[in-house]
Amino acid sequence: MGLFNIVRGDTTCPRCGQQIEAEVETRLGWTHELLTLRVGDRYTWNHPEMPSLRPDGGNAAGDGYCECPACRRDFFVRVVVEADVIRRLEPIVG
Ligand SMILES: [Zn+2]
Repeated sequence: MGLFNIVRGDTTCPRCGQQIEAEVETRLGWTHELLTLRVGDRYTWNHPEMPSLRPDGGNAAGDGYCECPACRRDFFVRVVVEADVIRRLEPIVG
């Protein structure tokens, strides 16, 4: 419980509309070492010595949580991984 990775990347805050450097907490994939990753990094699906939990094609989208550094309000983010690489952060509005 309480384990997550951090993914950093640029996105637009859906609360205040500012372009921000987001720091997103997500439970996608292997979270036991509390990795800090960036958009553009390869994603870790599981410990190297454990059975692979790689999804089909290395594609997955995980729910994430973020607090805006500009307005301090929080929002949810979709962390989009395609072909094992973190491609983008999509804020979930509403
Ligand atoms: Zn904001």
